[in-house]
Amino acid sequence: MAGEPQDDCLFCKIVAGHVPATIVRETETTVAFRDINPQAPTHVLVIPKAHYENAAALAAGAPELAADVLREAQSVADEDKLESYRIVFNTGAGAGQTVWHAHAHVLGGRGLQWPPG
Ligand code: 5GP
Ligand code: ZN
Repeated sequence: MAGEPQDDCLFCKIVAGHVPATIVRETETTVAFRDINPQAPTHVLVIPKAHYENAAALAAGAPELAADVLREAQSVADEDKLESYRIVFNTGAGAGQTVWHAHAHVLGGRGLQWPPG
């Protein structure tokens, strides 16, 4: 069922505390933790605790939760005092999505070019 924890999902395991992560913020509905392979000085992933496979499923199934994720992404940027930053939801394999639990990348602390390639 949409939103239910999935046994085979890495990020559900991080939410449950079964896989370690460097958590920087947590709310009732979201967790933010540092990416294991950072692409910028700040590279934090913000996820809903509930399992939705990507941003499209999250927006369709739980728009208020999508808003929580976006608000937390902003808080991460504020905490790291980022003036310029990027919030990315890779959505679909062709766009580079590799973990099938919705997550926002918050990237900052260096100059970022567009388009990223
Ligand atoms: P995607 O490619 O799906 O948009 O992003 C998945 C992100 O998860 C990648 O940036 C990758 O480095 C990160 N990642 C993969 N496995 C782990 C892990 O076990 N812990 C953490 N903290 N990040 C991970
Ligand atoms: Zn999950």
